[in-house]
Amino acid sequence: MTSEQRGDRPSIEAWEAVSPSARPIIRELLVTGPRTRTELARRLGLSTGSLTRLTKPLVRCGLLVERGIVHDETHGHPTRPLDLVAGDYHFLGVKITADGMYGVVTDLRAEVVAEHAEPLGARTPEAVAAQVAALRDRLARESVPPVAAGVTLGGNPSPLGGAGQLATFDAPFLGWRQVPLESVLHETLKIPCVVRNDVAALAHGQHWFGAARGLTDFALVTIGAGIGYALCLGGRVLESTEEDLVEFGHHILDPGGPMCPVGHRGCVGSYLSTEAILSAAAYGLHRPVQPEEIARRAGEGNAVCQDIVRQGSWALGVLAATIANLTGVKTVLIAGESLEVVRAGRRHIAEGMRRRRLHHHRPIDMRMLSSSFSEWARGGAVEAVRTFVVEGR
Ligand SMILES: [Zn+2]
Repeated sequence: MTSEQRGDRPSIEAWEAVSPSARPIIRELLVTGPRTRTELARRLGLSTGSLTRLTKPLVRCGLLVERGIVHDETHGHPTRPLDLVAGDYHFLGVKITADGMYGVVTDLRAEVVAEHAEPLGARTPEAVAAQVAALRDRLARESVPPVAAGVTLGGNPSPLGGAGQLATFDAPFLGWRQVPLESVLHETLKIPCVVRNDVAALAHGQHWFGAARGLTDFALVTIGAGIGYALCLGGRVLESTEEDLVEFGHHILDPGGPMCPVGHRGCVGSYLSTEAILSAAAYGLHRPVQPEEIARRAGEGNAVCQDIVRQGSWALGVLAATIANLTGVKTVLIAGESLEVVRAGRRHIAEGMRRRRLHHHRPIDMRMLSSSFSEWARGGAVEAVRTFVVEGR
């Protein structure tokens, strides 16, 4: 029976009360699904006695449930695996771009139950928080009220926010410096809210519930209005600052390549930012175009579009090979609006990889995500789950 069927309204407080020593159990069940007590104890390095002691109160208060009887893989005894009731709690995930706001409501395991996209209105923190609240209300009417929210955007926590000070966020694309967005959102939405860098959130979302599920090592590259990068090593997504990402976006792939606004030739952004791709296409075609049209016309044999696809795809192959060579990761996830264009040039991607790999017998596993922003918004919901359910902030 779910908590809604029992008639009590779910709230995040039940998760906040979970003891720190029981949190790894929550994470394991959340990410890997139902497990017997024996399996859980083995995977977490606990005795079955400790595991039973830690899980008993969680089962009693309904956060964990026992599934149907299976036979224990070690002893063959009948046992009932533990699980979370993913559908009992819902989370709001929001991604903010320079011109849009994208929202989803998901369950505990990031299954989307409602989504909506709309243009971004006024850009003051208060106006953005009010728009997030209106988006939440709209999605809640279509689905279920979320118990917590994760909002993601291009930016980072302010470097000066020390202990005891209000957590603040810098988002240069909105002209925000030291904005206490989490507390503004909390006051407006009246539910716990967390604000995170959008690329890191996408990486966390893919790691737990997406294309990188089950991997301990992978990289994520985002090619859109900006260039983003996240690296996950040993199961942990490493934090990057805005400066780190700027350096990554201007890393030179070919000193004879196209020019970027800073004056480099052949940096990552000069090949793969949406602006670079669209302005090259507009120059060649004498009118503005969208990424989908470039891919379509390249398929139809248009020389300008074919060349843009070739160049961007080749650069993506070179970039993926460079990342793999330097970090040792074998899987590279790609997201962002420019994907529409490079997706059409797979053989050029392979050619770019070959150029930077001496022994290309073990190709890099490149996984392309959806180019829509709902996957990013889902990353926001995963950040809310990570923060309030798994870490219990
Ligand atoms: Zn550059």
